[in-house]
Amino acid sequence: MAKVSINIATGSIQKEEIIVGIDLGTTNSLVAFINPEGNPQVINDAGKGLLVPSVVHFNPDGSVVVGNEAKQFLISDPQNTIFSVKRLLGRSYHDIENYKDFFSYKVIDDNSESLVKIKVGDKFFTPIELSSLILKELKERAEHALKTPVNRAVITVPAYFNDSQRQATRDAGKLAGLDVLRIVNEPTAASLAYGIGLNPEEEKTIAVYDLGGGTFDVSILKIQNGIFEVLATNGNTFLGGDDFDRAIVNYWVEQNNLTDHASDASLQQALRLKAEEAKKALSTQNLYNDQVADIPCAITRQMFESLIAPKVEETILACKNALTDAGLSPADIDEVVMVGGSTRTPLVKHKVSEFFGKAVHDKINPDEVVALGAAIQADILAGNRKDILLLDVTPLSLGIETMGGLMDVIIPRNSKVPTKAGRQYTTSVDGQVNMKISVFQGERDLVKENRKLAEFDLKGIPAMPAGLPKVDINFLLNADGILTIQAIELRSGVKQEVEVKPTYGLTDQEVEKMLFDSITHAKDDVAHRMIIEARTEGEQMVYTAERFLEKNGAYLSVQEIADSQKFIQDLKEVLNSGDKDLIHKKIDELNEFTRPFAERVMDQAIAQAMKGKTI
Ligand code: ADP
Ligand code: MG
Repeated sequence: MAKVSINIATGSIQKEEIIVGIDLGTTNSLVAFINPEGNPQVINDAGKGLLVPSVVHFNPDGSVVVGNEAKQFLISDPQNTIFSVKRLLGRSYHDIENYKDFFSYKVIDDNSESLVKIKVGDKFFTPIELSSLILKELKERAEHALKTPVNRAVITVPAYFNDSQRQATRDAGKLAGLDVLRIVNEPTAASLAYGIGLNPEEEKTIAVYDLGGGTFDVSILKIQNGIFEVLATNGNTFLGGDDFDRAIVNYWVEQNNLTDHASDASLQQALRLKAEEAKKALSTQNLYNDQVADIPCAITRQMFESLIAPKVEETILACKNALTDAGLSPADIDEVVMVGGSTRTPLVKHKVSEFFGKAVHDKINPDEVVALGAAIQADILAGNRKDILLLDVTPLSLGIETMGGLMDVIIPRNSKVPTKAGRQYTTSVDGQVNMKISVFQGERDLVKENRKLAEFDLKGIPAMPAGLPKVDINFLLNADGILTIQAIELRSGVKQEVEVKPTYGLTDQEVEKMLFDSITHAKDDVAHRMIIEARTEGEQMVYTAERFLEKNGAYLSVQEIADSQKFIQDLKEVLNSGDKDLIHKKIDELNEFTRPFAERVMDQAIAQAMKGKTI
């Protein structure tokens, strides 16, 4: 087990390079570092502000702006202005279809389990690419302000993020040219900012209450031996400061009888901005009084509090539920940490403190606290805090080969050991009874660039249609660095297990070289991977569509079959083009064309089944 840091510019090993901490938020993002005095500090590049709104706007000429500059297009150019992309990271269309109306830009409905894509003009973007644009902006601002290249970062994610969302965040970092040393939970970072958990002797149970712009979550953490364990999380991904703004707008609309304001987009936007201003003012004063156009916009703190009370109550209920899930009561909580801009609202602070029966930590800016904590975590990883015990970490990522020869990381590098992680896979071909599992080590996206550790077959999977078997693959890395890989098909129980020692025969120099290669190739690797993923998705689409025509030809006209075959052929022809946008375009076209057929077949199959039956 080892820690190595490499200067990308010179290729030399060095200790001094600044590692930044990044809070990649749903509403706002920010980047922090440890200043020469040893204190965490948020970067403010040339007075552009500390917070970078997580908004990306595509100009007609294809150029991109991020942050405040992009935010102003939310109402005037909604199709080309991407906000809340964090909600889409690591998600499939199935995951988000219940709230698809929330997005005013085009999220592609490909009716599949593959990751969502967003269409802007005639280009397709993954949430990973869009998030990388925000990260790139943060990286550039940091470089500009610090006058030094910034290549390494710690990025935070909500505690409830699953493996796929974490991987997507990591990839977004890579694509932005950042070596992501660690993905840290937001509540963990917030605690570190308050110095909670820095002393390895300390044992505490804490609650982190995070109310942001559009999301709310509460996490209950147990801190022991310098390790943060998430005992429970709860929340609502559609509750936040935006709701407070909306409540104020509605109040003004009512007060002023603004019956047809909904059709006036610019008035709506102006009212919304004014409401946010009022809300912020009411965090420190008792009355807000202003106007928009000729419309009087006044509100007292008392009125505001009565409007938002039900929302705040909802968050308290979530705290209650989180405690119940953790098997704890409010009295068991040693510290309460407040996170998110919306916790500046006095009613929120008051209710939270009342519920837990103690004063809350609110001295640090709640919208900076996560980034500041991430900077501390980065500093620890850089080895700059000798007082802090660094647990053994695994120096290289461990994973398996998936379709197209891609590396699917199961245990990311820099994970503390012992550790265990797993993921579920399925078959890609009907009736597949064997699954070859190849285990690799390394940071490159293509397994052929990594080091093979083991290979084995999971045999005897009962023949089932593609996608039906559920194969759990679990990696267990113990404190001695022995990796046990277990594969089990859940429907049948067939199981196979192997053991390897990942560090066997690997010198420190070789580890360094593998890391160095991965950093220099990071961007190309991700770009290459996206092409392979598009091709794999396209191949699956061709396979599914061809089988559909085979089985259901009777329900379609001769012309429909011919046209479908044409679309399939078009897709086949671009599969090897290496142009992911083109592949996505053809997938989308085939999908759009054949979607009504699937519905028709379903309807007719039901009608068939009902025939002759009376209900
Ligand atoms: P996220 O974590 O979702 O990216 P933030 O933590 O940056 O979001 O919180 C943004 C929210 O905080 C917005 O709704 C914003 O209006 C609100 N906010 C910022 N400052 C204040 C304030 N002084 N009083 C009340 N709400 C505030
Ligand atoms: Mg946040």
